[in-house]
Amino acid sequence: IYGAKRHNSRGVNLNVRSHYEPLMKAMSGFMERSYDVAPLLAFDVQRNPANVHEVFSPYDRRQRVGSVQWTTRDQAARAVDAAWAAFPRWEATPVAERAAIIRRLGDLMEENLAELMTLCSREGGKLLTDGVDEIREAVDFCRYYAMRAEEQFGEPLELPGPTGESNRLMLGGKGVFAAISPWNFPVAIFCGQVVAAAVAGNSVLAKPAEQTSIVAHRVIELLHEAGMPRDVVQLLPGDGPTVGSVLTSDPRITGVVFTGGTDTAQIINRALAARENAPLPALVAETGGMNALIVDSTALPEQVVADVIQSAYQSAGQRCSALRVLYLQEDVADRVIEILRGAMDELHVGDPRDLGTDVGPVIDEDARKNLLPHIEKLKGEGRLLAETRLDPAHTAHGTFVPPVAFSIDAIDALEREQFGPVLHVVRYKASEIEKVLDSINARGYGLTFGVHSRNESFAQLVAQKIRVGNVYINRNIIGAVVGVQPFGGQGLSGTGPKAGGPHYLLRFATEKTVTVNT
Ligand code: GLU
Repeated sequence: IYGAKRHNSRGVNLNVRSHYEPLMKAMSGFMERSYDVAPLLAFDVQRNPANVHEVFSPYDRRQRVGSVQWTTRDQAARAVDAAWAAFPRWEATPVAERAAIIRRLGDLMEENLAELMTLCSREGGKLLTDGVDEIREAVDFCRYYAMRAEEQFGEPLELPGPTGESNRLMLGGKGVFAAISPWNFPVAIFCGQVVAAAVAGNSVLAKPAEQTSIVAHRVIELLHEAGMPRDVVQLLPGDGPTVGSVLTSDPRITGVVFTGGTDTAQIINRALAARENAPLPALVAETGGMNALIVDSTALPEQVVADVIQSAYQSAGQRCSALRVLYLQEDVADRVIEILRGAMDELHVGDPRDLGTDVGPVIDEDARKNLLPHIEKLKGEGRLLAETRLDPAHTAHGTFVPPVAFSIDAIDALEREQFGPVLHVVRYKASEIEKVLDSINARGYGLTFGVHSRNESFAQLVAQKIRVGNVYINRNIIGAVVGVQPFGGQGLSGTGPKAGGPHYLLRFATEKTVTVNT
């Protein structure tokens, strides 16, 4: 079990030092570099020291990564003008040309893997293993959406003509999309949103998370290098109240693609709805989760714990898909908790650039402050089941939160998603399974869900009853693969369509039917 965390769900060893050594050597060239970046807009931006924000590493707040000049309201408004003007020309560009640019971005990200990974680590606190996955996922998004765009936006669909007319259905862009992305996948999700909107024929205004604007800046530089016109995709670093609100209140924004908290999605939704004389917008939102895993008495405890450790603590629990509530049937609960304690004792929390580290920092002080009161409260109630020790030698200067596991009575005890390495454990009796499923469904979130059982019909029944976007049986519940496990939820967890899925681009498109009386 203690070695299992080094393997992916197929048992492939991810921690082969010889595999990482050349990469680490290449990364060392970018470790000291200072990145001082500004908005990438269709027009030149003057340096404005008053609007520059310094960036430090989450694992060591004394280490400076660089600085980001935020976009002003005025620049954001001008960027919308440019995006709006660019749209008809870009939409008229043949889809094969649009797709070729996106594929070139994928190639360029592969060529620049070491630099992008270094930035994911220095700016986002990502482990090396997470960094590799992150860039690969971004490359997959490029290639997958380019392929789907050519299939769906290429030739018009010929429809039947029973009345003697000819009918064709064709797809085009919608206009201007705002892409508002999170810091937890600063390349993959950021890139997935931008390339989907762009390849479908839209201009894009990308607002990266404040915490990870430098790596986003590097991606957009590569996109421009790949041939993307500068007025078609622009980068607007800044905060939600300034840049986000200019974008979501402008009537020329025809769609918003957003990943982040459910509360913020609701703010965006209200802002879009409040616009007067604006077209009805498209909102593609991927939001939070209260993700559960149900373990019955037939499950293999060692395998369960390996998957729980990955699901709850990989990426320091900072994934929408991460496990928050583990349901253990009473017959296996003590055994699973005992092994979980042992596994958590073995976890090493520290510098994400060190191959021996299992869990890195949380993104910033705000994130830590959000988690600590909840942890303290449950500790105060005597609910602590297991905790990984923080070694000050590795964690003193960063924003670290120890992986913890608490017992709770039911999912209803959780007011909101805790976005970090905090697991909650509920014991249930076999006779209560219906009630358990009802309470998970009633909580309103519906992103990921897992079941561990060797009873196939039980697993299938549970999978069928649960209302979520992604169900995983007898494995971990994170790390959806583009084109294979389309990702996204329902209810409070998102609007759909699913990222990396065959229907995703359609939400970025208009459909036009042309009927000719022949
Ligand atoms: N797609 C990621 C996964 O499957 C999660 C994305 C997110 O956290 O928003 O783990």
